[in-house]
Amino acid sequence: MDLVTCHCRNTRCAQCGKMGNASALQPHGSDRGEVRLRCTACGDAVSTRTGTAYAGIRTDLTQYALGAKLLAEGLGVRATARILEIDKDTVNQWLRSLGTHGVEIMAYHFRHLHLTECQLDELWTFVKKKEGHLTPLEHMLDIYGDTWVWIAFAPITKVVPAWVAGKRTWQESVRLIQRLQSSTDGYIPFFTSDELPHYWKCTVRLWCRHARAGRAAHEALTKFRRMIYSTRWCINGASMDAWWK
Ligand SMILES: [Zn+2]
Repeated sequence: MDLVTCHCRNTRCAQCGKMGNASALQPHGSDRGEVRLRCTACGDAVSTRTGTAYAGIRTDLTQYALGAKLLAEGLGVRATARILEIDKDTVNQWLRSLGTHGVEIMAYHFRHLHLTECQLDELWTFVKKKEGHLTPLEHMLDIYGDTWVWIAFAPITKVVPAWVAGKRTWQESVRLIQRLQSSTDGYIPFFTSDELPHYWKCTVRLWCRHARAGRAAHEALTKFRRMIYSTRWCINGASMDAWWK
């Protein structure tokens, strides 16, 4: 395991954040195969797995890595558990850990992307049961039932720079556009979408907030008109101008 990026995480320590030779870390034994270090400046213990996909995993790492590959290939939780001869709840725990780490990795690497085209769409699925089969209590909990995976797709590079799983609401569309914004370099791509009005409304509001004046605003407005015209429902330019003001 590469220990170059390990560092003390005690914010009150003078060695906090220092890596490699600049750090004051010394080997401090291991716990179930998890190598531990100790900061000689403040005495805090540092796990070499902190900040990695292996953090908090007590299972054999070879088995865990194989489980991760099976899940990544699309195998179900129960099938993965049967193959590895472990409990399905353990696989569910892995899935949560891997997913959380995957989101962090994606957020780190997907920055300053220059997108010239972007397709916005949402895919229907459901959690546990379909909306029509929910009990009144499950309706109130708002956890199960119909779910949509909101996706921003860059057709030229085949990259999915942002996605959100949730209900088909205004709030989820805002989350998608905010994530998309954080992964790009600020250039406004040519958008295409379906008839759902959430997209162009929240995209214009969020993306053009800082481009209300001058050439940038004109460019943004022109592009979003093109986005609207690409949908099956249609709004004319005059209505758009009125909404914009
Ligand atoms: Zn320290």
